Amino acid sequence: MKEITKITGEIGSEYPISAIFAGVHGNEICGVNAFKELIPELKITNGVVYFVLGNPKAILQKKRFTEMNLNRVFKSVNQYTDDEKKSYEFRRGKKLKRLLKEVEVLLDIHSSMTKESVPFIICEKNADEIVKFLPAGTIVNGFDIVEPGGTDFYMNSIGKIGICIECGNHNEPNAKLVATETIKTFLSLRGHLTSGVKLKTSAQKKIQMYNLYFTQTEKFVLNKKFDDFETVKRGQIIGTDGLNQVCAPEDSIILFAQNKQKVGSEAFLLGRIIS
Ligand SMILES: [Zn+2]
Repeated sequence: MKEITKITGEIGSEYPISAIFAGVHGNEICGVNAFKELIPELKITNGVVYFVLGNPKAILQKKRFTEMNLNRVFKSVNQYTDDEKKSYEFRRGKKLKRLLKEVEVLLDIHSSMTKESVPFIICEKNADEIVKFLPAGTIVNGFDIVEPGGTDFYMNSIGKIGICIECGNHNEPNAKLVATETIKTFLSLRGHLTSGVKLKTSAQKKIQMYNLYFTQTEKFVLNKKFDDFETVKRGQIIGTDGLNQVCAPEDSIILFAQNKQKVGSEAFLLGRIIS
């Protein structure tokens, strides 16, 4: 598959331009598999759609990334060290930024290493009118502040719309089905398709993230295994960072909790249930 597949439909004086990314993390292949199946049969009738393999090198190596996390390279250039700037992912990010400047709305497809992970969406409020139709039961806002640097962050930072969907566990066949349904619904909402995709909404939980914990020592160990969106009580011990216990500052939900072996690693996120 090509790194970038551009499909052009009819182009009038005004037309929609969208991008769909898959494999920004190279081991999250549900979106890549959905592309392989969908692209040959797609009839884009209107506007321009870019289907993009986010991190081709990592996809080939079946790894999350090769030198640095591609989904953190989208902050302004002066926030990176010289070594980071030399990395494959940083250079790849520069190319992707150029493409995204042409685009109005981005859908970025991911999946999770957490076994029981259910589909959820990361976006900000500017995406409300799109995400309410997507097949995910939870909408998470606030990443732009607590964990900036992703593709969705970049789009929002330049006044456009960025949507990231987590389609469930990498190895579950359902992840590809979620990715496929999401892509079709997204293309329909964006006005790229004329053939009928039935739009439906269902109940969605809303969560506002408020904290990302960075490790302070080389040994952060979780007190237990946490599922994504598991609730934690105020004062509950989440883990031990060196000799210090790390507790939840308020009743929260926890996301992406992992043991870490490096200072300054992202160990977990905390959020509040809004509705
Ligand atoms: Zn990912």
